Amino acid sequence: MSFSSQIQAVAYCRTPYKQKFGIPRQPGLVNAARGFVELQAPYNDIDTVRGLEQYSHLWLVFCFHENLAQGWKTTVRPPRLGGNEKLGVFATRSTFRPNGLGQSVVKLHKIHQRKGYLALEISGMDLLDGTPIIDIKPYIPFSDSVPEALGGIAHEAPELTKVEFSQHAKQQLVNYEKLEQYQHLEELIIGVLAQDPRPAYKKAKTDPKLYQVALYDLDILWRLAEIDNDRIIDSEDTI
Ligand code: SAM
Repeated sequence: MSFSSQIQAVAYCRTPYKQKFGIPRQPGLVNAARGFVELQAPYNDIDTVRGLEQYSHLWLVFCFHENLAQGWKTTVRPPRLGGNEKLGVFATRSTFRPNGLGQSVVKLHKIHQRKGYLALEISGMDLLDGTPIIDIKPYIPFSDSVPEALGGIAHEAPELTKVEFSQHAKQQLVNYEKLEQYQHLEELIIGVLAQDPRPAYKKAKTDPKLYQVALYDLDILWRLAEIDNDRIIDSEDTI
């Protein structure tokens, strides 16, 4: 059998996530992340989304475009297993897969339209800024939600780590949050850092390294703090 298809992006996703490091590993984990699915011609006709406003959530089918050059792997080491065990690519949500396609459910807030521009305002995405969107479909609860489903190694949402801000970072946040483009910034930073984005092999160790996560045009500098045996991520600074 053979099959061939020429797939094109119908849209590109605008998100606060400017680099892969720090992006949540699944959608719905950081709801303060707001973004836009910007439809491209000829799909930016309002008729393509007629009726979509009746749905609260969407499926986005997209391309892991930043990883395409690295091809796919038969097995991968899921971060959930500490990076030590291998599972088959089709048993994981790895980004290194044949055809490089991903899928995520996101919340739909609003449809924006003006001359030549059509965009869906969304939240909770796990996508890099600029990700090509291959298809958009409404999420249908009666069929897409399976409460009794088994979740394999990912049965529950990841444990969250407490996040604290330095005095300097707190002051900067107050100023940034006055600007429209940084609304929900504190909530976004907390949501992202609470996932502890460090590589799986680092997590068991004390870790003095200063890390950086790029959100919007800001570099968020943070490090792991040891306080009363709890693992605390202390957001040091925003630049
Ligand atoms: N929910 C999707 C799925 O299951 O198909 C994606 C899961 S995948 C594990 C999520 C990760 O993909 C993010 O944490 C980020 O590191 C990476 N990612 C997101 N957008 C990407 C892109 N355009 N190119 C490459 N990697 C991307």
